[in-house]
Amino acid sequence: MSIEKQIVYPDTSIRAVMAAIDQAPTKLCILVDSEGKLARTVVDGDLRRALLAGISLDDPASKLPSQDVVSCPAETAQDTLVNTFSANPSINAVVLTDESNFPVGLIPRGEVLPGILLSPPHMGESESAYVRKAFDDNWIAPAGPNLNAFEEALKSASGRSHTLALSSGTAALHLALRVLGVGAGHPVYVSDLTFAATVQPILYQNARPVLIDSEPRSWNISPAALERRLKMDAALGCLPKALIVVHLYGQSADMGAILTLTERYGVPVIEDAAESLGASYGNRPSGAHGLLSAYSFNGNKIITTSGGGALVSDRADLIERARMLSTQGRDPAEHYQHSHIAYNYRMSNVLAGIGLGQLELLQDRVSRRREIFEVYRAGLKDIPGISFQGEVADSQGNRWLTVVSFDPNLISRHPYQLLRELRSKGIESRPAWKPMHMQPICEKCSFEPHSRDDVVSSRLFLQSLCLPSGSTLGDDQQQHIIACVRDFTRG
Ligand SMILES: *Cc1c(COP(=O)(O)O)cnc(C)c1O
Repeated sequence: MSIEKQIVYPDTSIRAVMAAIDQAPTKLCILVDSEGKLARTVVDGDLRRALLAGISLDDPASKLPSQDVVSCPAETAQDTLVNTFSANPSINAVVLTDESNFPVGLIPRGEVLPGILLSPPHMGESESAYVRKAFDDNWIAPAGPNLNAFEEALKSASGRSHTLALSSGTAALHLALRVLGVGAGHPVYVSDLTFAATVQPILYQNARPVLIDSEPRSWNISPAALERRLKMDAALGCLPKALIVVHLYGQSADMGAILTLTERYGVPVIEDAAESLGASYGNRPSGAHGLLSAYSFNGNKIITTSGGGALVSDRADLIERARMLSTQGRDPAEHYQHSHIAYNYRMSNVLAGIGLGQLELLQDRVSRRREIFEVYRAGLKDIPGISFQGEVADSQGNRWLTVVSFDPNLISRHPYQLLRELRSKGIESRPAWKPMHMQPICEKCSFEPHSRDDVVSSRLFLQSLCLPSGSTLGDDQQQHIIACVRDFTRG
């Protein structure tokens, strides 16, 4: 990479340095001395601190305080560069110099080290052995011993007596709607603040999503909004065919309050527990409370099969019907006869092998993610205006993702500015899910707010950011992220 445009001189004004940093792909400038030798690097934060210390925009760059700079000789080996970045978690680039200390190149962190990802897969020791077994036995099919063993193991993880492993969480939700007879025009209540996969299957069925707002504590479906809507629709004679309740970012919704309401009105409950495997509510696993529940084993979830999902229930008849629909709906006859429109939704025996190894680690992964959440909270809780998703009484979340909220009355900068700052340092963060009532696919959907004058989901969306939460996150990496967030809130 040519570094010419990133080099600034002692007499370059702070204003021009600022513009150069802004133009630079690595958001950094190299300040040289009067002989052209490396003096220091300058990032946005350095300028901000200098301005606060009284340096003005028209002052020359030579007024910046001197600073240790991390540099390496131009022909440094890759593994030495890796070690240099690891030993200096706060730098996002290393300057390369020649033997006279003239800067000749710049290596961004992302070119050497994989960035810090939001929620990467975390494999254990035994997954590949189960996969190997599938190869050795030539069970490369959507059936086989790994698949049967995985469904068995899922029974205890989910607290359910019947389980069906599928190709995705979305497929599981789709089958749940099918076995409950949801069809064209039927209203289906659903959490408004969620990933689109919760709502898509309702649309596959040409059914009608009715979007229910969040409550501010757990960010999950608001019992107040649910009750108001049920009362209204009962009076109009248009109660929903089902309610899909999401356990957002791994924290359980208030299932006690929700089930009291749905039982009163006779509405079946599907839990979208895609994000909450390993969490609990009232001493039972999250996903053990409604009529049917869906899990996801997508690559970013707390455990993964690369892609996959499951539908679970205590009702044998519903799971058997879903099993039939997941395998093209063949009638029980020798000849190929089909009376139902059905799908090819089964999980592969190869991927179930990954799932078997991953399930053994579920409790470890939950503990680690909860620990990561506690470290973020401890590291940020003194900052006025920062808050986190809460847990409802009698529940324990898996803290799949730590999501931090910034109160705009107390923190003037927008979370997306933090997202961009983190990105420039090779750290992935993501906005919170965009609520369904703000989505083009739900343009015509009805929406029930938490209270008449308060919409919670859109506020959470606009104020929140998901931080790296994977169980592989290193302690020093996390401290670095915390320092970035603290720095951001001061800016
Ligand atoms: C991931 C996810 C799904 C979908 O799962 P896939 O396995 O990716 O199809 C559904 N709902 C929520 C809330 C999710 O986060």
